[in-house]
This record gives sequence, C-alpha cells and structure tokens, in this order.
Amino acid sequence: MNASKGNVAVLGGGISGLVSAYRLLQKGNRVTLFEASDELGGLGGTFQHEGHTMEQFYHVMINTDENLLGLLAELGLAEETTWTETKMGFLYGHELFPFNTPLDLLCFGGLSLTGRIRTALGGAYIAKFLNDPKGLDKISVSEWLEGIFGAEVFAQLWRPLLRAKFGDMYDSVPAYWFWTRLRREKGSTKEVKGYVNGGYRRIADRLRTEIRRMGGVIRLRTAVYAMQDCPQGIQISAEGRWESFDSAVSTLPLPILRQLCRGRLESVVPQQKVPYQGVVNAVAILKKRLQPNYWNAIVQKGFPFQGLVETTHVVPESQTGGRHLVYLLNYCGKDSDMYHTVDGDIKFQALKAMRAFNPKFNQDWVEDIRVFRAPYVEPVWPLGYQNSKPRMRCGDSRLYLATTAQCYPQVNSWNTMVGIANDVASRMQFDLDNVNGESAEAAQELVAVS
Ligand SMILES: Cc1cc2nc3c(=O)[nH]c(=O)nc-3n(C[C@H](O)[C@H](O)[C@H](O)COP(=O)(O)OP(=O)(O)OC[C@H]3O[C@@H](n4cnc5c(N)ncnc54)[C@H](O)[C@@H]3O)c2cc1C
Repeated sequence: MNASKGNVAVLGGGISGLVSAYRLLQKGNRVTLFEASDELGGLGGTFQHEGHTMEQFYHVMINTDENLLGLLAELGLAEETTWTETKMGFLYGHELFPFNTPLDLLCFGGLSLTGRIRTALGGAYIAKFLNDPKGLDKISVSEWLEGIFGAEVFAQLWRPLLRAKFGDMYDSVPAYWFWTRLRREKGSTKEVKGYVNGGYRRIADRLRTEIRRMGGVIRLRTAVYAMQDCPQGIQISAEGRWESFDSAVSTLPLPILRQLCRGRLESVVPQQKVPYQGVVNAVAILKKRLQPNYWNAIVQKGFPFQGLVETTHVVPESQTGGRHLVYLLNYCGKDSDMYHTVDGDIKFQALKAMRAFNPKFNQDWVEDIRVFRAPYVEPVWPLGYQNSKPRMRCGDSRLYLATTAQCYPQVNSWNTMVGIANDVASRMQFDLDNVNGESAEAAQELVAVS
C-alpha cells in the first residue's frame, strides 16, 4: 500500500457505504466499514421464506442506470442480468386500468375525454420541447404540472401520484425533480426492468467479497454512536471505544448523522432540517399471480396503500420457488399514524387491497404477509434545493457525505447512489493526497455531485 494513503472509516453498509469502501480500497487506502445491522445492503435488505431469500423492499434497475450497470460489468455481474418488458396499471375507483399505450390513455376512465387529450399533449410537450430544466428548481411541481396539463388532469392523475410519494408535503417539491424523473426512462420505446440473478443482495454480496479481498474490514452489528474531530482527522465511537481515522464517509440519513456528531463537527454537518419520507411496506407471498402489471398506482379511497408492485413479473420464479411477491406500500413520515399502525391491521388492509385488484383473490393464495418499515427513505425536496443540497465534504473537516439527501434532482436509487459514492471517494482521495487541502476548491468543481 502507498504510505501516503489514508486510514478511512465508512459509516453504513448500504449500497453507498459498500461502493465508497470498494472505491477507497481500490485507491489504496485502509478501510473499516461500520454497519449497525447484521446484514449489508441497507434498504436493499432481505428476509427468508421457506429457504428463499426475498427483498424487504422491491428493487429493480432500468436500462439507463449507467452507474449501476457499469459497476455490475466491473463486478462480473452484467451477464447475469435479465431484462423484462413490464406494464403499469392504475387502480382508479374500483377498476384496474392498464396505463401503457396511447390507447390505454384514451380508455382511462379516470379522466374526461378532454382530460385524456390534454394528458397526451402535455406528455408529448414535455418530452419534445422541455429539454432545458432551467428555472424548474424554483417552481413547485404542482404549479408546473397544473399549468401544462390543466386542473382536471392535475387533480385526478398527478396530485394523487405526488401525494403517494411525498404525502401532504408534495406541494413543496420542485418541478426539477419531476422533470428528471420523466426523463429517466426517456428513449426507451418499451418499459423494461432489469434484475440481477439473486437480486440486489447479490450485488451487495459481491461488493463484500471484493472489499474483503482488498483487505477492507467490515464490522456488522456495530452501530456508530458518536463522532468528533481529532488531530488525525475523525474519531469514531463504536463498541464502547473511540478509534481514530484520517477521514470518514457517512452514508447515514442526515437526522441520524446529526445525532452522532460532537464538538466542532456538530456545526459543519448540514444544518438544513429537511423532512424525510419513510415507508411502510407489506410483502405478500402468494401461490398465484395476482394481476398483470409490475407497478400500479392506487387512487382509491379507504386504502392505506398508494402503490402495488408485483415483482415476480421481473424476478424469475426460480428465485422464489414459484411464489409470487406483491409489495403494497405507503410512503409516510416516521411520526405519522400510518407508520405506527400495527402489523395486523396493515396485513388486513393488504388482503382487502389485493381483492380489489383481482376479485378471484382469496386468502388461500397467501403463504405469508410480512410488514417492513424504514424511517428515512429520502427527503421531501424543498424548492431551490439544488443550491442548498449537502456538499461532499462537511466544511473543512475530514467528514464526507454520500447520502440520499444528495440525490436530488436524480431519483433515489442504487444507480444514483453509486454515482455519488464514486464521486465522494474521488474527492476524498484528492484531499488525502493533498493533505494541506491545497486546490480543494478545484477538486470541488472537478467532482461536484452531478
Ligand atoms: C420501497 C422502496 C423501493 C425502492 N425501489 C428501488 C428500485 O426499484 N431501484 C433502486 O435502485 N432503488 C430503489 N429504492 C431506493 C434504494 O433503496 C436507495 O436508493 C438505497 O438503498 C440507498 O442506499 P444508501 O446506502 O444510501 O442508504 P441505506 O440503504 O439506508 O443504508 C444506510 C445504512 O446505514 C446503516 N446505519 C444506520 N445508522 C447507523 C449507525 N449509527 N452506525 C452504522 N450503521 C448505521 C443502516 O443499517 C443501513 O444499512 C427503493 C427504496 C424503497 C424504500
């Protein structure tokens, strides 16, 4: 190892932590990764059912996920990825509408004929003419969409979808986020989703193998309790003792990170207290296929779920022993009533929702329903966030960030986080190689999070 390289800590063993550790090892550093739980993968975590490994939250790739696909190629997993054409549906009132083609749109019962025509024209206008996102960071997505699509389409279509993602805080989200999201799948004539054999767990496992092969240390069940500046760089408290490192990368959600920081670090971590959305998610393990679509939006009074995703349209049956996996989700704040609803009630609601998707559905189809929650999925982006989102380095300290609060305007996904982790590792390396911090501003420009 190059003697000038650093001794680095990585906080968190989700995709951001794994890729940060992997890249920093490739650059010749010593790396110790701290993960609070007993598993790597973070939100890509799993559970066991009858000898099969299943994901707690659904995860797939799309074919424009360049960072993630590049990583898969590097890890030798590209050839093990399968791509499947998928369909989307809309449960509106008591009917499930397909929502994939212009004809589907024309037949969509949730809108008047004028509304359907406006939807088609608005979509074409955004795709063809709105190539420049200038100014969209400061315009609310509601105002922007209502302007393009009109009041009816906004109220019937877009508002429920926005509310599903961001709850009642949807109005503060900038149009820039939505514009980026629409463009994410632009260019594909068909909607396809990618699945690596073994799921996202496989990517985490491969990264773990590579990290260990390069001499990295992974400490599972090791929560970091506190962090502070020290003459060497950063001190970390875990397992009842303080350890010193030259630098640290935190991949933790900002509210957790803020609680850990002591002394001077407290004042350099991002202060902006943006609210986070969490998620409550019921996974039904079924003996039969429920319905024809991969993803469905639910606009139905009385259901606590805003989306239903049947992942086994993409995940091969061999992965689940022929079972079908249905994810019912509700994005909500960790202090909301929904987040604290007891599992039994959520399971009951899940059964009711599945019946609405398929009248033939009955309880005999169900092997099990599991409920998972995550308190911090991503921030509810405020207007003007592009200029206030956290930078890679916390002030002049040796603490760096690769966290979902930096995703914006990209969607929160493994692809985006791989890109951020790649960038932060480059930035940290630059600083480690230039211990005096010279040219730090140049580096900031060089690898600014895109
Ligand atoms: C319902 C749902 C569906 C999704 N669907 C997709 C999809 O289809 N495709 C896709 O690419 N992405 C999807 N995502 C997004 C994806 O899960 C995230 O972008 C990604 O997992 C974020 O990774 P991360 O490493 O930044 O954070 P996390 O995965 O949250 O990892 C943070 C890690 O830090 C650990 N930690 C917390 N506190 C401490 C501490 N004090 N000390 C040490 N460790 C600690 C946690 O245990 C965790 O392992 C989805 C997310 C959800 C919730």
